[in-house]
Amino acid sequence: MSTELVAGLTVPTDLLRGGAWVGAQDGGRFDVIDPATAETIADVANGTVADALASVEAAAEAAAGWAATAPRERARILLRAFDLMTEREEQVAELIVRENGKSFTDALGEVRYAAEFFRWYAEEAVRVSGEIRTAPSGANRIMVVRQPIGIALLITPWNFPAAMATRKIGPALAAGCTVILKPASETPLTALAVGAILAEAGVPDGVVNVLPSRRSGAVAAAILADPRVRKLSFTGSTEVGRTLLKTAADHVISSSMELGGNAPLLVLEDADVDVAVAGAMVAKMRNGGEACTAANRIYVHRAVLAEFTEKFGAAMAALSVGPGMDGAAVGPLVNAAAVDKVDELVSDAVQRGARVVVGGARGEGPGYYYAPTVLADVPVGAQITDEEIFGPVAPVITFDTDEEAIRLANATEYGLVAYVFSKDLARALRVSEALESGMVGINRGVVSDPAAPFGGVKQSGIGREGGHEGLLEYTESKYIAVDW
Ligand code: NAD
Repeated sequence: MSTELVAGLTVPTDLLRGGAWVGAQDGGRFDVIDPATAETIADVANGTVADALASVEAAAEAAAGWAATAPRERARILLRAFDLMTEREEQVAELIVRENGKSFTDALGEVRYAAEFFRWYAEEAVRVSGEIRTAPSGANRIMVVRQPIGIALLITPWNFPAAMATRKIGPALAAGCTVILKPASETPLTALAVGAILAEAGVPDGVVNVLPSRRSGAVAAAILADPRVRKLSFTGSTEVGRTLLKTAADHVISSSMELGGNAPLLVLEDADVDVAVAGAMVAKMRNGGEACTAANRIYVHRAVLAEFTEKFGAAMAALSVGPGMDGAAVGPLVNAAAVDKVDELVSDAVQRGARVVVGGARGEGPGYYYAPTVLADVPVGAQITDEEIFGPVAPVITFDTDEEAIRLANATEYGLVAYVFSKDLARALRVSEALESGMVGINRGVVSDPAAPFGGVKQSGIGREGGHEGLLEYTESKYIAVDW
């Protein structure tokens, strides 16, 4: 089965397994909802545990052939996938808007970012190097080769349905691994479209299998229990990451975890306020605030607080809200539960004394809208500073010294990304080094780049995606002791 939801783009709605599109073994399907209207727009096959095991079988049959495929040939296929995705960027972006809700501009940005992972890893596929060292005794050589780790289970979230898939598939394929992709149940169509692009690009049957399923826990457990599966790469919430790490531990499976964030954004007293406002707008509002990298806590030095709050509030108030395909700057949140959660966090902050500068209320239904919101005077201890907001709400908090800002920024179990604004680069670098995060943006609100190692410390994750590091996650180093 397939859908023509987007003109000019036929999207299969079954499971991709061994190069064929097949229904779920029990015939089950589940609905995909448009967050802008709360209406059902498609239904897709709901993979069962038997389907999951059949996917492992398909990935296993293709594994040896793909690992033995020349790196140049793997690169050629990935580059073809980049070209196909780029040719269809507007259609894929529209598909993302329809099932995820984000603005068309954000969706187009995501498709371009997503396609770049195919191009970057096409370029990396032919540069997987090993090493030869001399043993300290001088008596022999230490040879290290990098081999594909084996079958990988890839589990992705709904907030970047294309980019989170390609950020895993690109390096896995470049390294010579075969994969099973389990996309988020909110956004399976984009993952299926990516699967179709890869098949068209010439990926051999069984190398990429796509398994939408609402039985996430059961299918993941079944796949991880198969001894042929050697890798788990997960992007999603810290809570689900913890559960999956426990399952992976039972089988000692190599695990990469891209988990939740609670990013602090620091505006130091010598910051260019206009640059800080522009950076905060991107860091907060890309994807309508539904990003792991979203600025969750905005710490502003007392000297620039009034100017920053006024300019930032005005910029937030000027954002248009509406369906992503109607040209709105901010689309709906992904579902009703997301709106409830954001509303609860705002109410808690206001009850504790926060002041609403702009917004602070749900939008008009039937879609799942929330107004872009700025909260000032947010007290330490408010729930909103401890939890991922995942919506268009920005709490602003005051500080007096760099040390205080660093202490507040680090007072969280998360450590994905942080942002620092200052005209003094040496000062910004000193603060960056003291921040407990895997990434720091200095005077800019975006850190994502396919060529850079993306990932978190503390409970924001394990491992890195993107860059050279991203490919190493799909390899094992084999040491061969050589006497010659
Ligand atoms: P989620 O954890 O609810 O779901 C992520 C994926 O896991 C989905 O495919 C879901 O179906 C699946 N899943 C849910 N329960 C499972 C289980 N018990 N076993 C196996 N799979 C299961 O996250 P979400 O709501 O889709 O995404 C939002 C979260 O993702 C946020 O916390 C965000 O910060 C995080 N995120 C992190 C990054 C990063 O790179 N660090 C990037 C994007 C999103």
